[in-house]
Amino acid sequence: MASPPKIAIIGAGPAGLTLARLLYLSDAKVDLRLYELDGSPTSRLGQGGTLDLHTDTGLAALRKCGLWDSFRKYARYDGQELIMADKNATELAHIGGGEKAGESNRPEIDRHRLREILLESVPEECVRWGRHLREVTEDGMLRFDEREEMEGPFDLIVGADGAWSKVRERLNGLKPAYSGVSGYEMDIMEPARTCPHVEKMVGRGAYFGSSDRKFLNAQRMGNNSLKVRSWYSCPEGEAKETLDKYGKKGTLEKIMERYAGWAPEMTELLRQGDLDSLKHWTLYELPVGYRWEHKKGFTLIGDAASLATPFSGEGVNKAMKDSLELAELIEKSQDPNDDLTLDPAILSYEQLMFPRSEKLQATTMNNKQVMFGPTAPIGIMTNMLKTLAVDDSSILMKMLGTAPVVAAVYSYFWTRQQVGWAVRRFWRRT
Ligand SMILES: Cc1cc2nc3c(=O)[nH]c(=O)nc-3n(C[C@H](O)[C@H](O)[C@H](O)COP(=O)(O)OP(=O)(O)OC[C@H]3O[C@@H](n4cnc5c(N)ncnc54)[C@H](O)[C@@H]3O)c2cc1C
Repeated sequence: MASPPKIAIIGAGPAGLTLARLLYLSDAKVDLRLYELDGSPTSRLGQGGTLDLHTDTGLAALRKCGLWDSFRKYARYDGQELIMADKNATELAHIGGGEKAGESNRPEIDRHRLREILLESVPEECVRWGRHLREVTEDGMLRFDEREEMEGPFDLIVGADGAWSKVRERLNGLKPAYSGVSGYEMDIMEPARTCPHVEKMVGRGAYFGSSDRKFLNAQRMGNNSLKVRSWYSCPEGEAKETLDKYGKKGTLEKIMERYAGWAPEMTELLRQGDLDSLKHWTLYELPVGYRWEHKKGFTLIGDAASLATPFSGEGVNKAMKDSLELAELIEKSQDPNDDLTLDPAILSYEQLMFPRSEKLQATTMNNKQVMFGPTAPIGIMTNMLKTLAVDDSSILMKMLGTAPVVAAVYSYFWTRQQVGWAVRRFWRRT
């Protein structure tokens, strides 16, 4: 009998861990190792914000992982509440939270909780912590920063190593490009105690403020704190340079200057942020439709395969769907009753994933352009309508995407904005 294939997964993010879990559960016998640059499960504090998982992708993967009950412990259905406002704090849309009927649920979970439940579901000895991959050789060997001797060879190396993937370097070496958007992040740790007015304004989910090609948003976390983010277009490196040059206090002043003219209740989100938690973000992306020529022994999943900006909230969902499809094909290739072998299975995964990935990248690119374009925030609403119409097969939804309906919706929101602005001016005068 042939020995089980040796598979290395690089990266213990959502993609790598989902794949490890699925292979661990599968009937396929594989010799699996997962390498992660973090020193331990707890070595990286502040594992980011909150993620909404979608039915056919992130949630489907979790169900297949057998982790539905663990997920339900931390899932926040009220976190689906969404408020969209312009810079005068005029609410343009307010979607309620709570568990919905049918397929439209997109419950939130903190990123660190997702990692925790995935990590707990794979055998401890499967993950090698503190291994920073430096190089992948043509013959399937891995070289790490921390040790002289290489590991391998592996029959398959799966790059789940995110934006700056070393496995991608072995495939075709393309590096992500700057997306044109950068920003900052801060936490408000106890909004209910320190700023109840902000707490109330944000609600249980996400509060998005958009105008003047800028974005200001707050998201509720599982511990009731708020994660506040500010996004805008600027040259590459500017956000980091500002922080290096002016320090946290000076940088906050610079950020506030960008939002001059915005309603004070919105900029309060920035004023109430814990200065210690201030960090910068510089967003990168791979070209829409990025793909590589199939190479035996290597493949990519998640951000390593299709890095995009976070402006469609799909990255983690796409990453987990990649793992789901790849695991199924690897399992099939190990089934003695099936003709499929490992390399054609990997090729099939790539052929399935590329068009799915391209569609998401194109949507995300479009969202980014609209969000930081001249028509936002109204353009964001009409863009959502058009996207829904394209994706839905019902005639009613298709009609919503037609030019007259879009124009009517645009006029409606434009009028709401003008009224909101006039009311604000009136109150300021009186
Ligand atoms: C600010 C922001 C907000 C976001 N919000 C959302 C959202 O709301 N919804 C959503 O769906 N997506 C969101 N995303 C995108 C989402 O975070 C990613 O798409 C998702 O994390 C991809 O998972 P991954 O496992 O492919 O990569 P990652 O999460 O990047 O994980 C990669 C792992 O590989 C490890 N690694 C990297 N290099 C090496 C190396 N050389 N050697 C060993 N290990 C290595 C890393 O330490 C990490 O653990 C957001 C992204 C950002 C930046």
